[in-house]
Amino acid sequence: MRDVIILGSGPAGLTAAIYTARANLRPLVLEGSQPGGQLMLTTEVENFPGFAEPVLGPELMQRMRQQAQRVGAEFVAEDATSVDFRRRPLRVGASNGEVYEARAVIVATGARPRMLGLPSEAKYLGRGVSTCATCDGFFFRGKRVVVVGGGDTAMEEALYLANLAEQVQVVHRRDQLRASRILQDRAFRHPKISFVWNHVVDEILGEDSRVTGVRLRHTQTGETQELSTDGVFVAIGHIPNTDVFRGQLELDPAGYVLLTRGMMTSVEGVFAAGDVHDHTYRQAVTAAGFGCQAAMEAERWLAQQG
Ligand code: NAP
Repeated sequence: MRDVIILGSGPAGLTAAIYTARANLRPLVLEGSQPGGQLMLTTEVENFPGFAEPVLGPELMQRMRQQAQRVGAEFVAEDATSVDFRRRPLRVGASNGEVYEARAVIVATGARPRMLGLPSEAKYLGRGVSTCATCDGFFFRGKRVVVVGGGDTAMEEALYLANLAEQVQVVHRRDQLRASRILQDRAFRHPKISFVWNHVVDEILGEDSRVTGVRLRHTQTGETQELSTDGVFVAIGHIPNTDVFRGQLELDPAGYVLLTRGMMTSVEGVFAAGDVHDHTYRQAVTAAGFGCQAAMEAERWLAQQG
């Protein structure tokens, strides 16, 4: 039996691994079949403190993993496929058929951006298609971008991009935004932001390895039109990776893990960190911070249990 099992290997999981390993808790990290989290899909990272020169997302994750390994964290390249948090020890079933047992668990399984699901979107991801303005907006200074979506995230992305890009066009599938009034008003007032209502993106157009435009389809008439653009920011929501915790941990209506006190979930001894509970900041550095908090709280909780 382990003191701590960590589920997930993005910045939250790996930071939790570093802290729990250094606290002598011998953490086991179920890093998943696709380790490293969302940063593996990013190119250059310029906002993670400590890197004067941009670092590639996958390289940053590799360094974090090496650091965790050096201080004693163990890794299994498996997904958690089931959990039983109703009994002690806590149990985690993995994709290799093993059942791992621990006194405490840190859930850091992250979230994934909801995507449009177009082959052209996958083709140009990281080459003009992005899901994070804070991460990639800088590359579109003075250029034209399209933001897809009508929620708070889309408005935040549009407002952030409007500070950098020459022109921001928001494409929304209805004629009304879902976003909060305050963000709507800000976006409507911004001289660089315009709206294309009642349209969905049918195809992302490009040549070689860069985006040149989008083909839009009117949701009512079915008519199509092309719009020139240098970048497409898909902001149609995120999906927390919490399916495996349904019925075990309390989740909010959107599926994010609910915290009860500090980083503790609805189950004593089960903590959560990163995008799996945080839909507000969603940054590598904040996820790492949450991972640190969860690790320190797990350590204190375990010490109290004796
Ligand atoms: P969201 O509220 O679910 O909005 C998603 C938007 O994308 C909606 O406008 C939706 O259209 C559109 N959409 C969904 N699937 C689509 C598809 N396949 N094609 C085209 N459009 C699609 O997601 P979110 O904006 O990421 O926000 C998630 C949660 O975080 C919300 O509770 C939000 O309030 C919160 N949040 C808050 C802040 C803040 O307060 N500063 C910032 C970010 C997020 P419809 O409107 O037609 O459904």
